[in-house]
Amino acid sequence: MVLVLKERKEPGELKLLRMLKARGGLVDESRFWNLEKGYRGEVLFDKWFSDLDGEWIVVNDLLLEYAGSLFQIDSLVIGADRVYLFEVKNFEGDFYLDEGRWMSSISNNEIKNPLLQMQRCETALRQLLRSLGYQFSIEASLIFINPEFTLFNCSPRLPFVFCSQLNRFSKKLLKQSSSSARLNTRHSRLAEKLCELHMEKSPYERLPEYKYEDLRKGIVCVGCGGMGVRHERKMLICNECDFKEEYKASVIRSITELISLFPERPLTSKNIFEWCNGLVTLRSIQRILIKNFSLEGFGRSSHYIKL
Ligand SMILES: [Zn+2]
Repeated sequence: MVLVLKERKEPGELKLLRMLKARGGLVDESRFWNLEKGYRGEVLFDKWFSDLDGEWIVVNDLLLEYAGSLFQIDSLVIGADRVYLFEVKNFEGDFYLDEGRWMSSISNNEIKNPLLQMQRCETALRQLLRSLGYQFSIEASLIFINPEFTLFNCSPRLPFVFCSQLNRFSKKLLKQSSSSARLNTRHSRLAEKLCELHMEKSPYERLPEYKYEDLRKGIVCVGCGGMGVRHERKMLICNECDFKEEYKASVIRSITELISLFPERPLTSKNIFEWCNGLVTLRSIQRILIKNFSLEGFGRSSHYIKL
């Protein structure tokens, strides 16, 4: 049985970048796609792992600290006799190793060495576990989840798992799990401890600068991310992809966007009317606010806050 103690969530930075992108904010495309692709790869890995037999406790997406340095773990899995560290990469295309350097075959550009990154992580985790009084051995693997990825010139002894090896890899994991003792409270206590030590990173840290005035106003279509929606009766319909959504849901989503991008902006019906570019009437916005948010303050300074 796979017990997931800490679920993976879509990175906050990615969500914010998507909102900015839709509204014409200046977003670094490569940063955006790196985050998007990385996250999609991790979700694929989670899906693969959730089908595994055997007994496991999974703790996803950890940001930990040891001796003043931060390290991030994509997926940490506690088995009965060891701790697995999985670094998931969603690389696509042909790459080769050249004296330890990772090169793209197409551009011949060097990319950041993911093995080095994982090894640093492994060392820090080992020290952290030891400091907590745990002597588990750690097995770290770099998982290349994308079937379109090839790495040339690499030794089979390196701790890599390619997409084509995943089936055999799951058999190996199952064998390791069934030949050792069962999970007990010591294992679950470790998982809980790691969740406790996890630190939340602010999603705003690496965001590009943006101003309210510069962003496009309107309602973003969930279907295609465009902004060409029209209001018909109780629905908002996208002119590009025909996606339909009840206007109330669209407005609530737009309010959430406004709160995320401009937390300091007062939540008043007038501000939301402007943010949605008048697509929904002031009266409807007022009704939605009353029903879903709570009013704070009096008179002219009154505004709504999230319930
Ligand atoms: Zn659309």
